[in-house]
Formats: sequence, C-alpha cells, structure tokens
Amino acid sequence: MTDKKKVALCTVRKHRVISAASPPEGLLFFGKLLKDAGYDVRVFDILIDHAEEIFLQVMDFDPFLICFNLSTGSAMRESIDLSGRFQRKNKIVVWRGAMPTLAPEYCLDNCPADYIMRGEGEKVIVQLANVLSKNQKVNIHGVVPMGSTDHGEILKLSTEEVAHLEPGWDFINVDDYVREYKRGMRFIRFSLSRGCDGGCAFCSVSRNKPGWRPYDEKNLLKQLEYIRSRCEFNGIFYIDDNLFGWKTDPTKLAILEKINVPWVGHVRVDKINSESAKWFKKVKCLVAKIGAESGSNSILKSVGKGFKAEDILEAAKVLREQDIMIYMSFIAGLPGEGEREFNETLELVERLAEIDEKVLIHLCHFAPYPGTRGWKMALKHGFTPPENLCDWDNVDLSMPNVDWVDKEKMVPLVDKLNQKYFVERFQKMNDLRLGPKR
Ligand code: SF4
Repeated sequence: MTDKKKVALCTVRKHRVISAASPPEGLLFFGKLLKDAGYDVRVFDILIDHAEEIFLQVMDFDPFLICFNLSTGSAMRESIDLSGRFQRKNKIVVWRGAMPTLAPEYCLDNCPADYIMRGEGEKVIVQLANVLSKNQKVNIHGVVPMGSTDHGEILKLSTEEVAHLEPGWDFINVDDYVREYKRGMRFIRFSLSRGCDGGCAFCSVSRNKPGWRPYDEKNLLKQLEYIRSRCEFNGIFYIDDNLFGWKTDPTKLAILEKINVPWVGHVRVDKINSESAKWFKKVKCLVAKIGAESGSNSILKSVGKGFKAEDILEAAKVLREQDIMIYMSFIAGLPGEGEREFNETLELVERLAEIDEKVLIHLCHFAPYPGTRGWKMALKHGFTPPENLCDWDNVDLSMPNVDWVDKEKMVPLVDKLNQKYFVERFQKMNDLRLGPKR
C-alpha cells in the first residue's frame, strides 16, 4: 500500500546535461518544509532524455503525492505526459510554478493534474500534504482543483517569511550543478533574494513573485557553508530575479562583501554609476548581466524599464572602466516596435559593441506571458495566444513568437548579431566553457 508520508517533487528540464541547469530551488524549498513536517521526500530533477528512467524511479519510490514544477521554460509536453501517467497509477498530482500561477485558464482546462497551486506555495504545501494524506476535502487558498472556473488567489510570502526560508540542499548532489570554466573557475548558482518590485511589462516575475525580498544573511551564509562542504566552487552565478531590487542601494547589500567570491549577476542599468561600479569591482563582480531590452526610448518607456538608451550606454562605459565584463541582453519584437524603433536598437548595439570586446550582446525574441502587461499589449497588437498548454512548449525566446515581426528578415539578422557580438566574443575571451560535465 502506498505510504501516505512519501512525496515526490519533480521538474522536467529541456536541458541535456544537469550542469547546464540551475538547482530546482522552488522544489528544494518545498522539500525542506515537508521533510521538517515528517514527510519522506525525494526531488527528481528530470532531464528530457531521461524521463522514462525517472518515471520508473518515482514509481519505485511509490509516493502518494507528486508535485510538478511547471515553469515557462520547463518541458511542458513531457511534464503533461508524466503527470498523466502518474495519475493513471492513482497518484495525486499537483502542479506549481510559473505556468499555474500565470496561466490558470490553460492549466485547469482538462489537464492531467488534480490541483494547481498558484504563487508561493511554501505557504500551504505542508497543509495540502496533511489534508491529502488524510483523504480530506481540500479547501486551501491558492490551491485550485482541476476544472474549476474560479482561479483562486496567488499566494504571496511576506518579507519575513522569505527571509528565513531554506532550500533543502541535501535533496540534490550540489556538485552536479557546478559549471566549470577555463582557468579552474567553478560556478555554483545561488540566490540572495526572491522576486522583484519592478513592473517591466514583458516580465512575469513581478506577478509570479511580487516584491523584492532578501533572504536573511545568517541563513545565506549557513547555506553556503553547507554547499562548500559538498563541492568546490570559486564563483557564483547569482540567479536572483533582480539582485538589488528597484528601491535598494546596491552598495548597501553587504552580504556580497561577506561572501567575497567572484560573481556574475543581474544588475539594473539604474543601479550603475561610477560609484556603484567601483563597489561592484570591490565585491568581486566579474560579469554584470544587464537587461537593456531596447535602444528606443519610446519602447523603453512603454514597457516601463525606468531608464533611457543613453543611460544604458553610460552604464556600460562605467562598468568597463572598472574592467567588469558586460552581458547585455535586448528583446526584439516588443509591442509597438516598428522599423524605426528596431533601428534605434541596432544603433545602440553598435555603439555598445564599439566600447570594447568585453561587452557581450545578446538579442532574444519577445514572448508574451499571460497575466503580464506585455500580454495585454501583445493581444492589442494582434498576438494569437497558444491554444493549449502543450503549445506553450513552442514559445521560444530564440524565435519570433508574435505576428507583427517579419520572421524572414528578423531571424537571420538577430542570429548574425548574436554570432558576432556574443558567440565570437565569448569564444575569444579564453573564458570558454570546458564543456558539459555530464
Ligand atoms: S525585467 Fe528585471 S527589473 Fe524588470 S520586472 Fe523583471 S525582474 Fe524586475
């Protein structure tokens, strides 16, 4: 008989190697809370090519409850397929993550799950497991049964609740997630905060995880100590949605000084000036990742970025004065972008590229996410939404997803720029990846 104390937490990745992926943080938070409440938990981080093998492993573990992470980048078709197979084996299937949060209308429409959980499910996961293990009726805020037309509320944790959350790092082999580079650099992925208080129209973070909330310093240092006891690393990719928050003075984030490890992380343009750039250097910033999005001031304004094209250029210059590498990203095809606006982006790209070879520039294509302002803007401009959840698998940032973009012209142009200002520059920089570990 299935043990009512066993819970499996699953995510299916499009990645071919695990070291290319970030640890499944969301599931690790769930795992720790469930384990502390007495559940026997396993986390299954499933690479797309290994779905069959993992299906058998989960069945062998024989949990009564299986919680799937369904993010916008996860392998939707495989997640749906596995969920259906588990349901047919009488498992209770719950979906959490960005898709149930942002697109409940897709997830509740005849899909192979029993419930969806919207928003920050840490608030209710133990309560849900308790109720389900006793075969009681589920009446929990943020948890919606399949077929319901009432989409329920999006759960949100307070700043205090987030501060003390801890991922259960012991559910994974952290060394598997280390990414190796030349010159002996070994990077882990780690986050200092959650969410964002910004409101960029195209971005789902402020809806999915509203509000920038930092984790407690002691909590972070304890986690890093544990990770260090399990693997060697000398670099950190901060995978925070927004490392510094909109209203935060970056130079006040003292934790970076305490951690004192070279890092790569997202920094907003409006956080960069000659003073902060010196501080970034002091706290060992190797690469600043910057979402520039557009070279057109009218587009930057309409998507609510809060800075102008000239600020992007200035930020790049002051960072390069400190010899901090830059990885600048742009989005082609934002709503309202015509030939003139895109040409402004091309002009800015060329001016940035001229600064020096350590400015890497990457362009992706706009993908509207439900629940965002960008989604509404896209619909207004004639965007045809995917018909069902499976079709979300085709939404791909490396291809145009909207009808107003001239695909034949845009695809080769974007590919050419990415080759010239990203791939070739990256290769020249002797920071080339050694290749996947496994
Ligand atoms: S793009 Fe960055 S700054 Fe803007 S809302 Fe998203 S996470 Fe926040």
